[in-house]
Amino acid sequence: MKVRTRYAPSPTGRMHVGNLRTALYAYLIAKHEGGDFLLRIEDTDQERYVDGAVEIIYRTLEKTGLIHDEGPDKDGGVGPYVQSERQASGIYLEYAKKLVEAGQAYYCFCTPERLESLRTSVNGEEILTYDKHCLKLSKEEVEANLKAGLPYVIRQNNPTEGTTTFHDEIYGDITVDNSELDDMVLIKSDGYPTYNFANVVDDHLMGITHVVRGNEYLSSSPKYNRLYEAFGWQVPVYVHCPLITNEEHKKLSKRSGHSSYEDLLDQGFISEAIVNYVALLGWSPEDNREIFTLEEMVKDFDYRRMSKSPAVFDMTKLKWMNGEYMKAMDFDKFYQMAEPYMKKVITKDLDLKKIGAMVKTRIEVFPDIEGHIDFFQEMPEYDIAMYTHKKMKTNKETSLKVLEDVLPLLEAQEDFSNDALYELLSAYVSETGVKTGFVMWPVRTAVSGKQMTPAGATEIMEVLGKEESLARIRKGIELLKL
Ligand code: GLU
Repeated sequence: MKVRTRYAPSPTGRMHVGNLRTALYAYLIAKHEGGDFLLRIEDTDQERYVDGAVEIIYRTLEKTGLIHDEGPDKDGGVGPYVQSERQASGIYLEYAKKLVEAGQAYYCFCTPERLESLRTSVNGEEILTYDKHCLKLSKEEVEANLKAGLPYVIRQNNPTEGTTTFHDEIYGDITVDNSELDDMVLIKSDGYPTYNFANVVDDHLMGITHVVRGNEYLSSSPKYNRLYEAFGWQVPVYVHCPLITNEEHKKLSKRSGHSSYEDLLDQGFISEAIVNYVALLGWSPEDNREIFTLEEMVKDFDYRRMSKSPAVFDMTKLKWMNGEYMKAMDFDKFYQMAEPYMKKVITKDLDLKKIGAMVKTRIEVFPDIEGHIDFFQEMPEYDIAMYTHKKMKTNKETSLKVLEDVLPLLEAQEDFSNDALYELLSAYVSETGVKTGFVMWPVRTAVSGKQMTPAGATEIMEVLGKEESLARIRKGIELLKL
């Protein structure tokens, strides 16, 4: 049987990291087997609906490369792929009625007040277990109520004795006492199906073979199983993904910057690195490799190697991985992404490509660029103690001497390219018989005012140009003379 998986998001905002992982795993499971990956929009919860969220879903799937084979925009013959449209066609009510006829579901006309009175407190938690009151209504009573236009819901009729067992590929066999299965609502009083009902009907009608989703749905799964059984449908393979926590083992939150794919892009992460990192939140390949392209993941992904223990979203690790992607990135692509960050700090007419090449292997996320290159725009105030460097055997006096020596050489120098400047300073190094660092350290300090720079003295001077470089060296001499 052809493997078919789906990503079934509710359009409630940006795509959270957990949702991205669900989409990714569903995609990988399908593609690993040459199967189909579907997109279904679950918009039946009108209260949670956020305008524009559907566009975010499309945009995110496209940018991450999780291209669906079927969906609202790609008909594969089992549509519509939007639950509100499916609802409008009446299918959920039709299937709920089938269950009513089979005695597996029933109409419930209880008023909100009556339901409230069923609320009890168990271990400090408010729970509402429905008491099957309306199950006792006769067929005639139900019909009369419907005719009179009384508001109603349709509830699943679950047994109260015995147990129900279902199998999850990651969590194993899970058995619950039927007494714990509430008679959950299948059709709400507004005519919309609940998520619980719609996803079973849709997964079946869309031929979904593997259901991939977050483990928050684990506890409801026995009820889904009973629905499949009531309909006489084959239960899909369940793959529930482990919880993702932050470094403190707490829920991911927007505040700590973990929460959504687009938040991470805003923070300067690369899409491919995010997808790669997210893949490892609950799964590891046999060889423990960490860097993967999407194609390589398709090849290697095996859901049987997923873990059930919570996965920790480690920002430091993601940053490291992002840095690896930056190093490996083609320069033009890197430059295109880096340019806006460089332009934030550099407004002078400097060769940004050269500066970009200096930082490419030194940063982990794009905003890091600013701190590395700001000195090109403006010389920072610096402490002359920086001229003293133990290893280079420099101090203020030696630095002053070097700067005073090289200044006239640089003044006389026409060609301010890195190579020519390096040659010039190297000649001075050999003439004076000192070490290269003994000369380069003070020069670099004078032209950058920084302890750490993304390139050496001569590369920096090439970018700054003659006039600015000389001005900075003269300034250095001035400071050292004070
Ligand atoms: N609409 C549900 C959500 O966004 C989907 C759950 C599922 O995949 O079954 O959480």
